[in-house]
Amino acid sequence: MAGKIREINADQYEKEVLGAEKAVLDFYSTECPPCEALASKYEDLSILYGDDISFFKIFRQENRELAERLGVSGSPTVLFYDNGEIVGDRLAGGIKRSELTANLNELLSEDRAREIAGSIKPVRTECQVVILGGGPAGLTAGLYLAQAHVDTILVDTALPGGYVSTTHQVSNYPGFIEPQQGFMLAHYMSEQAKAAGITLRAAVDVTSVDLVKKEVVIDGFETISARKVVIATGSSPKPLGIEGEMEFRGNGISYCATCDAKYYEDKDVIVIGGGNSAIEEALFISKFAKSLTIVHQFAELQANKEAQKKAFADEKISFLFEHEPRAFIRHGNMDMEVVVEELKTGERKGLRTNGVFVFVGFIPNLSQFNGRLKLDQWGYVDTDEEMRTNIPDVYAVGDVRTKAYRQITTAVADGTIAAISISKELT
Ligand SMILES: Cc1cc2nc3c(=O)[nH]c(=O)nc-3n(C[C@H](O)[C@H](O)[C@H](O)COP(=O)(O)OP(=O)(O)OC[C@H]3O[C@@H](n4cnc5c(N)ncnc54)[C@H](O)[C@@H]3O)c2cc1C
Repeated sequence: MAGKIREINADQYEKEVLGAEKAVLDFYSTECPPCEALASKYEDLSILYGDDISFFKIFRQENRELAERLGVSGSPTVLFYDNGEIVGDRLAGGIKRSELTANLNELLSEDRAREIAGSIKPVRTECQVVILGGGPAGLTAGLYLAQAHVDTILVDTALPGGYVSTTHQVSNYPGFIEPQQGFMLAHYMSEQAKAAGITLRAAVDVTSVDLVKKEVVIDGFETISARKVVIATGSSPKPLGIEGEMEFRGNGISYCATCDAKYYEDKDVIVIGGGNSAIEEALFISKFAKSLTIVHQFAELQANKEAQKKAFADEKISFLFEHEPRAFIRHGNMDMEVVVEELKTGERKGLRTNGVFVFVGFIPNLSQFNGRLKLDQWGYVDTDEEMRTNIPDVYAVGDVRTKAYRQITTAVADGTIAAISISKELT
């Protein structure tokens, strides 16, 4: 095993891990993309911290009993130990280098942590194309570029897959007769791009982006320098911007049904919004919730007719039209109040519920790019037909760019067009 990592089994756990003064242990599995994303970071950090902290790995599938005893239910899971006691954060899923270093530093004195940080040497990596964002648009661009033998690095702040990985079911992506689970479709897309030969930097912190110089700094020390940049960073749910929203975000207010609906089994839920996402997600939440009220600003829904028909036929769902939320108030542990205003009269009232889901549209993820990109009136990136932005050699694809319809198929089409255009220019 590379770096200063030792592979152990359950029989060695007590002596090696609990017996070490300071230790870190990674429960990994095979055929596990997040484990692959972690491997090089873990190895690299073992070289930096290995004289002070013992680095271990254990194969979860063959050491299940120990994993269960320690409450480890997924791979990778990283645990930190101080004199035999588990301390710090229990890291799982798409683990970032910054999360690892924060926990490793906690095991050391401030001076030693600073000394190690000071010993990190900057790294410069050259490639032909750097893609920012590994949703359907970025992965497709990566697939085509790699197949055209263009040296491509794809950077994602999370694990690749984008929105598809958190979409419950996708029934409109061509090639599959039955609806596909979103995370499987995302998995196929990222594995296909990897197999074609892209280099993936997943679950990283993007420190800075210079679109003019075509330089992307990740995790504070690696500068990726490219000839062309593809922006494929997608969009994020738009906040309502009202009192209580930021405070209770992730704690009573959610923006992702696939992620959070399961916590509302037999509970009352309010959904804000009336477009496609709101109604489709409401139908999913209704499988769990006891009752669901859709609060919408207009007199009718904007969702597609099929989704509307299902929502109106669902006995658990009721509607409050021509109302807008004005504030969220928390009462106790599992009780929220949504203050809504009737738009015609201005009259306000409080609706009690267990949780709120907000689906009122999206904003493009562009905060890390300097203000030189030409945007449309809604803040999406303007491109020409070949996905070129106003900055030479910078392309934008997928949900982040100006377009009428934001779907997986349209994102994939953008990625294809940009990649073919780039490969032609580079040859
Ligand atoms: C709830 C929901 C359900 C949907 N259902 C369907 C459906 O059934 N069928 C369909 O066709 N479409 C559906 N869509 C739309 C579809 O998911 C999107 O159109 C599509 O995912 C857009 O792809 P993308 O690659 O442009 O962006 P995304 O999928 O949003 O991917 C963007 C990627 O960029 C990464 N990123 C963000 N910022 C940075 C940064 N600064 N640096 C590096 N990486 C970054 C993100 O981590 C992410 O992986 C749905 C969308 C939602 C929200």
